[in-house]
Amino acid sequence: MSQPLAIISAMEGELRAILEQLTHQEMVRVGPRDFWRGHWHGQPVVAVLSRIGKVAAATTATVLVERFAVSRMVFTGVAGGLGSGVAVGDVVVAKRFLQHDLDASPLFPRFEVPLYGRSHFDTDERLGSALAQAAQTVLADVVGLLGELAVREFSLTAPRLHRGLIISGDRFVSSTRESVALQQTLPDALAVEMEGAAVAQVCHDYGIPFAAVRTISDRADEGAHRDFKRFMDHVASRYSAAIISEMLRRL
Ligand code: SAH
Repeated sequence: MSQPLAIISAMEGELRAILEQLTHQEMVRVGPRDFWRGHWHGQPVVAVLSRIGKVAAATTATVLVERFAVSRMVFTGVAGGLGSGVAVGDVVVAKRFLQHDLDASPLFPRFEVPLYGRSHFDTDERLGSALAQAAQTVLADVVGLLGELAVREFSLTAPRLHRGLIISGDRFVSSTRESVALQQTLPDALAVEMEGAAVAQVCHDYGIPFAAVRTISDRADEGAHRDFKRFMDHVASRYSAAIISEMLRRL
């Protein structure tokens, strides 16, 4: 049997939308996590909830390699928009990741992961492109996917796809002061979240292709927590399931 592709989500709502699509499901519990084996478009997959933050994400990714021998990993979730023009309802497909809260200076330059000699971890070009094409296809018909009402409620008139740097850290960024500071220090960062860079580092360690897609749920400012759950249930989880479905059809 061919090795499965892993689908990781940080939050419950997204995993639920993905599990609705899996056939031949079987659950395997490892530590505190449930790993769901199944098939999607005829491909073997393992879907799992990482929970929130870098440590939870790194542990999940390691188990996926060691216990499930996955061939590739895809992360799907939400993120705060940082770059100008990265709006709520847009989608970002990562080209590379960095941990914005890592600082071992003066021993190592700020953001550099000690003993790796690097601060950035790249995603896989082929997998990332497949994900980006899938996202583009889904964004081309958001009304078809979500319906007129949701599109109007969340002002999703012309959602855009962005590709580039996503930064991760163990903080929910919800103040203009902090998001402006991040934008000044890391001007090419498009979005901020709490898991991606950890999974990218584990995949780098094991030589596993990795790609990640994030729907922008907020602008990492004071309004960030507002309507988070509604957005997750009505928009982000449906984008996720549609984008991953479209990507699997292309692989
Ligand atoms: N209010 C939510 C908190 C979720 S934490 C709740 O009650 O459950 C935020 C999750 O979304 C993390 O998995 C993180 O990766 C992502 N995220 C979205 N916006 C973010 C932001 N502004 N800063 C950091 N992470 C963000």
